[in-house]
Amino acid sequence: MAVMKFGGTSIGTASAMKRAMLIVAEEKKKKAPLVVLSACSGITNRLIQVAEAAGDSRLAEAMELSGEVREHHRELVDVLINDGERRKAVMEKVETYIGELDMLIKGVDIVGELTARSFDTFCSFGELLSTTIFSEAMQEAGHGTVWQDIREVMITDDNFSSARPLEALCEKNVKNTLKPLLEQGNIVVTQGFIGSTRDGKTTTLGRGGSDFTAALLGAWLPSDEIQIWTDVDGVMTCDPRVVPDARSIRVMTFTEAAELSYLGAKVLHPDTIAPAVKQNIPVYVLNSLHPETRGTVITDNPAILEGMSYGGLVKSIAVKKGQCIINFRSNRMLGRHGFMANIFDEFARAGVSVEMISTSEVSVSLTVSESASLEELLVELRKMGEVDIEPDVATISVVGDNLRASKGVAGRIFSALKDVNIRMISQGASEINVGFVVEGQDVSKAVQNLHHEFFSDSETSGIFESPMKRHQ
Ligand code: ADP
Ligand code: ASP
Ligand code: MG
Repeated sequence: MAVMKFGGTSIGTASAMKRAMLIVAEEKKKKAPLVVLSACSGITNRLIQVAEAAGDSRLAEAMELSGEVREHHRELVDVLINDGERRKAVMEKVETYIGELDMLIKGVDIVGELTARSFDTFCSFGELLSTTIFSEAMQEAGHGTVWQDIREVMITDDNFSSARPLEALCEKNVKNTLKPLLEQGNIVVTQGFIGSTRDGKTTTLGRGGSDFTAALLGAWLPSDEIQIWTDVDGVMTCDPRVVPDARSIRVMTFTEAAELSYLGAKVLHPDTIAPAVKQNIPVYVLNSLHPETRGTVITDNPAILEGMSYGGLVKSIAVKKGQCIINFRSNRMLGRHGFMANIFDEFARAGVSVEMISTSEVSVSLTVSESASLEELLVELRKMGEVDIEPDVATISVVGDNLRASKGVAGRIFSALKDVNIRMISQGASEINVGFVVEGQDVSKAVQNLHHEFFSDSETSGIFESPMKRHQ
């Protein structure tokens, strides 16, 4: 049995939803799947704007944005549900959710404060609405479908906006609720991204978290496979928005996929791979716009990986924009023990997460997200040494299992980047990535040069598919 997760663009419009419905119906011929949906594309962003407007006492703006969310879903119902009675009932469900959203807006406006808890409740409406419409449309198309509120199953801690599941409890819930429904032959449609605390407060798992939901549910069932349906042909040699001639990767190991997602490849949420590894479940990344293409399989199964070895060193290039470098320097670091611990203590106290690090005897450079709040941290660091900040930089990482055993990779990387000002360099302890930092304005040139260096035709044999071949 498969868990099938569809991202926002794969269900964002009526025609996208119809395509996703056909893909699910096809899967059902084998066995009824568990379907995990995101919100329609753009809706979570819109709900965040609603939340911020409400928290900021911009009531009229919040209500207008909520009206847009309502209209989007009403239009979907109009096109997707044909039967008059059913359409009326589904419209009522949409109105009920929007009514709750509007009540929340007014409540937050009156209190004058947006809490982490209400923020997550705002965000949850996107998935609740998309799944409600999708499951009714599937039911109308004659497929036995059950809608499940995942908040009865996905019980989490109360770290709002980045909640983590209480695994043993969730697994029990999956076995008691979802599993019997699937075994009775029902398609089950549920929400990604959201969960609930033990005492019933809505939580979310973090942006892009629906992939994580699908992987967790897949591991708890356990399912035979986890399918991540998105808007590109699987995991590619680079983000196709940065390098238009990026190619699809047919197969990769769990470690490569995990590393790539940590390092910024948005196609998979960084926490997706761990649950799959635990149960050794293959993860397929597939294109809902071209379901006939092969996409990518992520697995450690030697039978699948066999014959897939290739001449290329690098499997993919990941880019993380919106970073800044903090350069710290102090002669007091020389020969002193514990100094580094003091520096990291300050990061921990400020709640700022460090991404890449590079050190010498008397200096350390670190990258952090530009969105982190740095004021207090910088005040403390300046008490310990000299600090300067380089804003608007990006980390670029080349990833591949073959890097472990290869010589000369660094040479090739740096000759491909001879025209680019490299601000920092670091090799991951996993030995399967080499990362460096460039200025924001150089990202495109740097990535395209690297892509050319490692993915020219003579370099790769069989494992990648070029964009032209893919859609023939
Ligand atoms: P979804 O809404 O389906 O979850 P996302 O927008 O989260 O989709 O992820 C898909 C996007 O990830 C693609 O449109 C692509 O621009 C981006 N992306 C970044 N790196 C890669 C990569 N290595 N391979 C494929 N896509 C990538
Ligand atoms: N809808 C959520 C988001 O936009 C979760 C997801 O799409 O995976 O972040
Ligand atoms: Mg995503």
